[in-house]
Amino acid sequence: MITYKTFILLPGLETNTYLFWDGITKQAAIIDPALPSQELSDFITDQGLAINYIINTHGHADHIGGNSFFHNQFNAPVCIHADDAEMLISSKLNLSAYLEYEMMPTKADLLLDENSELLLGNERIKIIHTPGHTKGGICLLIDNLLFSGDTLFYLDIGRTDLPGGNYEALLSSIRKKLIILPDDTVVLPGHGPASTIGIEKLNNPYL
Ligand SMILES: [Zn+2]
Ligand SMILES: [Zn+2]
Repeated sequence: MITYKTFILLPGLETNTYLFWDGITKQAAIIDPALPSQELSDFITDQGLAINYIINTHGHADHIGGNSFFHNQFNAPVCIHADDAEMLISSKLNLSAYLEYEMMPTKADLLLDENSELLLGNERIKIIHTPGHTKGGICLLIDNLLFSGDTLFYLDIGRTDLPGGNYEALLSSIRKKLIILPDDTVVLPGHGPASTIGIEKLNNPYL
């Protein structure tokens, strides 16, 4: 069974960093570490978790700022869609230059694509490529949890005015790949509160 916990490491941008793990094998993954965090690191150690992956839903600074810290601490591979991999090492592409955000760049260890599946204990993490917010944006599906990055928010969708953004592509990604999931799928976005596919299908003004 998968358990998850949300951490907000970056006040201001309020990026949701998620830690999730398989309760039986204690294998775990970190999604979108916004910043280095001793609190998160201590939690992982206290729970006796083994970090198998650090996964970025996309390459913006507020989702990758802790990659280097957690990579060094737990020796886990940094995973991102191939189309966003370059953003990890370019302060211009990942916008850290604009945000005046001090960041230690780390390159990708594992490039993901639409057909990737990552094993976590007895569970599988399915990668869903959802371009639109960025070219290599992904959502992750495990169990009935959908980690939706900056693609789908509670009653909102990701912005498409940043480099690599495309409004039509974003809507198409959400309609073709996310809204088709079961209504009780829990949506865990990159910012703001959680939702479900059922709630978004009925109430999201963009859909
Ligand atoms: Zn973003
Ligand atoms: Zn974001």
